[in-house]
Amino acid sequence: MATPGCFSPVLHAGRRAVVTGAARGIGLGIAQRLLREGADVALVDLDRAALDEALSGLPQGGGRALAVVCDVSREDEVQQMARRVTQAFGGIDILVNNAAISPKHQGRKATVAQATLQEWRQVLDVNLTSAFLCARACLPGMVEARWGRIVNIASQAGRTRSEISGAHYGASKAGLASLARTLACEVGELGITVNAVAPGRIDTPMAQTVSPEVNERYRANIPVRRFGTPDDVAAAVSYLASVDAGFVTGATLDVNGGAFMI
Ligand code: NAD
Repeated sequence: MATPGCFSPVLHAGRRAVVTGAARGIGLGIAQRLLREGADVALVDLDRAALDEALSGLPQGGGRALAVVCDVSREDEVQQMARRVTQAFGGIDILVNNAAISPKHQGRKATVAQATLQEWRQVLDVNLTSAFLCARACLPGMVEARWGRIVNIASQAGRTRSEISGAHYGASKAGLASLARTLACEVGELGITVNAVAPGRIDTPMAQTVSPEVNERYRANIPVRRFGTPDDVAAAVSYLASVDAGFVTGATLDVNGGAFMI
């Protein structure tokens, strides 16, 4: 069992955040934590029904929440989303690129030989191009404010081999870490940091797409002997989004219970 985390109700007071893929799983955990810590948070997702459900269960007493339906792989929708959030909150200080897909077929990844070009492109579009589009849409306000935080949710699968997810997924996640490094160099002098968080196995709907046997085998090999929780990842994001992390940029933070170490 994970131990319950601590949080500061004022850590992100006055900040305005966008979290993509926030209707469930890790994205929802990140949105909940940032809200509890005082930020206004736009929960961005293409699943309207899941967003409605998420909104009804959010913590009370923190920052304001705004639900925005948006397919983050589409440039027009991303631009519209950024305009809507800026209008509602007055700006965007924190961007968390979390939305992603990891297609499975009867609980298994498609191998490189099996995967279609369409599936390859869809994964790259949703997982990686989306982060490029969201960063471009959110950066102008951050540049103007001379302050910003961008956090890409990468994956252990982008750091080492994975038997669970496909090559397209791993490539997209390695790309997110690389995007963080390059962008970090481009905007560092403007008070904006860009980092990646690489979760290991986290207990979410995405992790349920493979069989319980595969998950059990995996769990037995994690040094802390448990899967992570969305809040384990949210705590890392919260730190990287804070003032305290101003000297951390271009980094990839592993949050994996020791399952992968370098
Ligand atoms: P999840 O599948 O439970 O949730 C993903 C969310 O993204 C969903 O709400 C979905 O509707 C949304 N989404 C998908 N495509 C979208 C699009 N085009 N536009 C907008 N929203 C879209 O996934 P999760 O397990 O919570 O994973 C969250 C992040 O963490 C992902 O980036 C994932 O790759 C990463 N990750 C997860 C694990 C894990 O074990 N769960 C491990 C490593 C990394």
